[in-house]
Amino acid sequence: MSEAGALMEVRDLERFYVLGDELVRALRGVTFTIDRGEYVAIIGPSGSGKSTMMYQLGCLDTPSGGTYRLAGYDVGSLDGDELAALRNRFIGFVFQSFNLLARTTAVDNVALPLRYAGVGMRERRARAREALERVGLAHRWDHTPDRLSGGERQRVAVARAIVTKPSLLLCDEPTGNLDQRVGQEIVKLFEELNDTLGVTLVIVTHDPALARRARRNLKLVDGELVHDGPPQEGH
Ligand code: ADP
Repeated sequence: MSEAGALMEVRDLERFYVLGDELVRALRGVTFTIDRGEYVAIIGPSGSGKSTMMYQLGCLDTPSGGTYRLAGYDVGSLDGDELAALRNRFIGFVFQSFNLLARTTAVDNVALPLRYAGVGMRERRARAREALERVGLAHRWDHTPDRLSGGERQRVAVARAIVTKPSLLLCDEPTGNLDQRVGQEIVKLFEELNDTLGVTLVIVTHDPALARRARRNLKLVDGELVHDGPPQEGH
């Protein structure tokens, strides 16, 4: 499959949920494309469809209607194993809650996605150490999460997200559990990775300060895309 052109192509995307006898239209025909190397924030008020969009873009869910192509692959046509393979190959995830294994050292947390990708033990460790170095945490490689600060935990999570060299870094409220100063450092780290590695950065957030830093904002209201362009004043 060709990897040229847009990294992500969303066309008339719909996602409905059935809730009792009610149909909740969480995404109502959304269209946009994101090219490789872009820096995009997905914003909107609570209940506007941001999480639903995150699941779609992350290949954690499939559309009810319309299409989503990631690197040319039609996500709606894939089964569970194929979706997992696509995620592993193209996407690094960073969540608000870090999602690290508690009794596992930083280096082994970071190496985990490589295990799923079938990389041997020695190479896993070497690449995990390299990723920790990139996020400024090489010296903490043998610490378990309980011995790390919130900011350090999120750096480990970022290292885990980039260890597979993904095309897309997909971040869900990545600064939501951090104080402002530490949150800023994490955002700077994302921006550095976007600049130096060319990784496409998509951040889902309700934080206006974070949204304003992105070069492009996609704003959802009631499941519809109401703004696609540079950050606007007033949100
Ligand atoms: P946001 O992340 O912007 O707060 P969501 O994507 O979580 O928005 O939700 C969009 C809409 O879809 C809301 O009306 C929400 O109640 C509804 N919704 C989300 N997930 C589900 C679900 N699993 N089942 C039913 N309704 C859902």
